[in-house]
Amino acid sequence: MDLLIRNVRLRKDKETLVDVAIKDGVISKIDKNIEGKAKREIDGHGKLLTAPFCDPHLHLDAVLSVGDPRFNMSGTLLEGIKIWGERKPFLTKEIIKKNAIEAIKWEVARGVLNIRTHVDVCDPRLLGVEALLEVKEEVKDFAHLQLVAFPQDGIFAFENGDKLMEKAMEMGCDVVGGIPHNELTREDGVRDIEFVFDLAEKYDALIDVHCDETGDDQSRFVEVMAKNAIERKMGNRVTASHTTAMHNYNNDYAFKLIGILNRANMNMITNPFDNSVLQNRTDGYPRRRGHTRIDEMLARGVNVCIGHDSIMDPWYPMGKGSMLEAAGLVLTYAQRSGYNEIYELYDMITHYSAKAMDIQSRYGIEEGKPADMIIVDAEDEMDAIRLQSECLYVIKAGKVVAHTKPAQSKVIYDENEEIIDFLI
Ligand SMILES: [Zn+2]
Repeated sequence: MDLLIRNVRLRKDKETLVDVAIKDGVISKIDKNIEGKAKREIDGHGKLLTAPFCDPHLHLDAVLSVGDPRFNMSGTLLEGIKIWGERKPFLTKEIIKKNAIEAIKWEVARGVLNIRTHVDVCDPRLLGVEALLEVKEEVKDFAHLQLVAFPQDGIFAFENGDKLMEKAMEMGCDVVGGIPHNELTREDGVRDIEFVFDLAEKYDALIDVHCDETGDDQSRFVEVMAKNAIERKMGNRVTASHTTAMHNYNNDYAFKLIGILNRANMNMITNPFDNSVLQNRTDGYPRRRGHTRIDEMLARGVNVCIGHDSIMDPWYPMGKGSMLEAAGLVLTYAQRSGYNEIYELYDMITHYSAKAMDIQSRYGIEEGKPADMIIVDAEDEMDAIRLQSECLYVIKAGKVVAHTKPAQSKVIYDENEEIIDFLI
């Protein structure tokens, strides 16, 4: 054994403590009281051991850019896109790589080992694609990256957008992105999606489209995605991100649509940080919440997962790369505070996202699977979300790639100083 982790709780089992043995980067045994010696032992002290978090929606070419060249004063999506456009000509490969690697380290330290990043291809230099392909290679020992060719300004609304998309796939992107609601007309939006599916078929790639990321209740491109997913039998390889317009659809249409999404077996990603601040901003009062119909889709068997989307960029100035924080926001903002719903939030940042990223075959705490795992400073998933617990150990392929010591406080109420930890 290379590594033996003792006394951990696996998910949804509060009672039993087990040991996990790792050899040659693979989980070799999970059992009570495993005998024998390992090169390294970690005592889990009864904490929660799970598969690592996934972040299936992040923009690594924009992270840590807040305030450069200027801050978003209105807080709107459109001003964010405008600022991003102002920044693009000044970007260098070095800046993109430096910020991306820094943000990846933040996420890894917080237990995220699988990241799907969109990379803007509406730049004739394709600098972002070049930079993030290099980053993907440089971080591969501590994080798995998937790159989405993402046409921020449109495949057809941006000059040569279609050619840049194709070039980005040739260069090595893993996933085809799209942005139908940002094209000039409804018809071009439909063409955008047809183009995405054609390109994905050509390169045998996954699909992840920024779809209906608007408050416009007439923005109905996700149905076009579902139709293509059904007809081309690609559903499990297809993801629609954001779909915030769905919040504003009439209920009859939304009911029909969710049935079609279920039939298509598509994946959906909600991005609570950005969606909560960017959508329905012009409502006045009462103000709608702006995120997609998370609860209705989950209730009808659609795979919905959670992305971080932004970390300190023109669209969302905050963030630290914590999927537990994102899950906590969904709990509050999307009213997922029912007992089972809280535990499902943990699925949404682990297994549901692994399905969307199409990595299930090598994901999960099972004998024979790669030894990718986290030990969270909590006794169960509910506490992990409540406390936004630190990841004590983050392990990739059997190696500890991040280790965090939880904070402690000294509480002084008389002459004695009592040290408490935050697990209260
Ligand atoms: Zn996005």
